[in-house]
Amino acid sequence: MVPTAEHHDVVIIGGGPGGYAAALYGASAGLDCALIEKAKVGGTCLHVGCIPAKELLETAAVHRTVRHAGDFGIGVDEPTIDWSVTQARKQQIIDDLTKGLSGLLKGRKVTMYEGAGSLSADRQVTVSGGASGDVTLTADAVIIATGSVPRTIPGFEVDGTTVVTSDEFLSLDTLPERAAVIGGGAIGCEFASTLSDMGAEVTVLEALPKILPGCDEDVTKAVERSFRKRKIDIRTGVAVDGHDPRAEGGTTIRLGDETLDVDLVVVSVGRSPYTEGLGLDAAGVKTDERGFVVVDSACRTDAEGVWAVGDVVATPALAHVGFAEGMVAIRDILGEDPQPVDYDRVPWCIYCHPEVAFAGHSEQSARDAGLDVVTATHRYLGNGRARIVGDTEGLVKVIALRDGDGAGQIVGVHMVGPWVTEQLGQAYLAVNWEATAAEVAAFIQPHPTLSETFGEAVQALTGRSLH
Ligand SMILES: Cc1cc2nc3c(=O)[nH]c(=O)nc-3n(C[C@H](O)[C@H](O)[C@H](O)COP(=O)(O)OP(=O)(O)OC[C@H]3O[C@@H](n4cnc5c(N)ncnc54)[C@H](O)[C@@H]3O)c2cc1C
Repeated sequence: MVPTAEHHDVVIIGGGPGGYAAALYGASAGLDCALIEKAKVGGTCLHVGCIPAKELLETAAVHRTVRHAGDFGIGVDEPTIDWSVTQARKQQIIDDLTKGLSGLLKGRKVTMYEGAGSLSADRQVTVSGGASGDVTLTADAVIIATGSVPRTIPGFEVDGTTVVTSDEFLSLDTLPERAAVIGGGAIGCEFASTLSDMGAEVTVLEALPKILPGCDEDVTKAVERSFRKRKIDIRTGVAVDGHDPRAEGGTTIRLGDETLDVDLVVVSVGRSPYTEGLGLDAAGVKTDERGFVVVDSACRTDAEGVWAVGDVVATPALAHVGFAEGMVAIRDILGEDPQPVDYDRVPWCIYCHPEVAFAGHSEQSARDAGLDVVTATHRYLGNGRARIVGDTEGLVKVIALRDGDGAGQIVGVHMVGPWVTEQLGQAYLAVNWEATAAEVAAFIQPHPTLSETFGEAVQALTGRSLH
């Protein structure tokens, strides 16, 4: 007997940042929302992404700080790492946040279904294979938020011990002595930084001519310089042909005529949209040639009453972009004519050491877009707070439209250095508020703070300066 379908205002498939944001925001707007999750609420971000990656980076930072405690006159023995404690701390944070999120969803009266969701015509969704059993749902609106999975490359089959992706890397039992990270993007650089600060010998293998594509050239150079100082070997423009596991453990990577012996290979070459078993064809939802669900600026798919948000669509693969899209979809469902996400100006943060943060154009992308721009750069070297914390590498670069002999609207801010991920806020506002250099320069930066570096760079664009 076919069970009677349960009806909800909105059924959301996938409980990662895109899906749970839509559920929480929709419920807070009075909608009856249901959320289907086949694994754990929180998705990639909470379980195998942002949170564990940043927790391990923080542990690495503590190790680095303790190693340099002598600079402050604090005597400590050479620090050791109890990796089981590190992993337990990371897991505790994940568990606590998962519990908090589940409580929040329950508090907002979001109906949770545990199982895999599959879509058919007329916004009918079946749930199966999980603790909720087989359930059929109907909805006024369906939101697809099924996320993404790590991409792999031929010749590097993932075995979970010698060859890993981010999924396995974040839960390794032991630390390698020598590691290769294939891919010098944001995640690859975060992993390289973590491993290096934990004492491993690290090589980054990148096929493109430079690491961190998308970042301003001056920022990339600062990261490269810092990585090289820490003996992270960055090899760009290289092709990896495959690898030969060694009997004694570890493996030998083939790089044309050269080879590289390592204990661990971390494949970090991007992510692919995940739509397996979703029934997109049956529901009339179109995908592009790379498998991303096609949406318009309000996150609507081609199928009537079906939206898609997060990593499953071809927009910046960031948790906070998923949050923003979840809210856009809900507001569109409510008929509120939402402002679309301005993808060219979203905030980007990379938590390697030194950290990177930016919003808007780099100098090169502005010029490629035909903009006539002027730039100003200020370094952390002379900043009092940076000296106090003992972290003076890096710079802030502000890119503004030329206005006569001076600078007008700020179109991009690119930062590299101490805690820049926490300093991006005002730069993000300046870019998105379309503020001019003169307007921003009129605001006071507290002293002594790292954020004075941003203030100084903006001042310089007005033709005057302090330090
Ligand atoms: C190592 C790493 C570090 C990262 N660091 C950052 C960072 O610092 N900042 C940042 O903004 N972003 C970061 N990201 C990216 C971020 O994790 C993703 O952009 C974000 O998780 C995407 O959210 P989502 O909801 O679209 O998808 P996901 O988080 O992938 O969630 C999708 C969910 O859907 C579920 N699902 C899939 N199919 C079905 C189905 N048929 N039925 C039911 N459930 C289903 C999955 O189980 C999953 O829980 C990082 C990613 C990685 C891998």
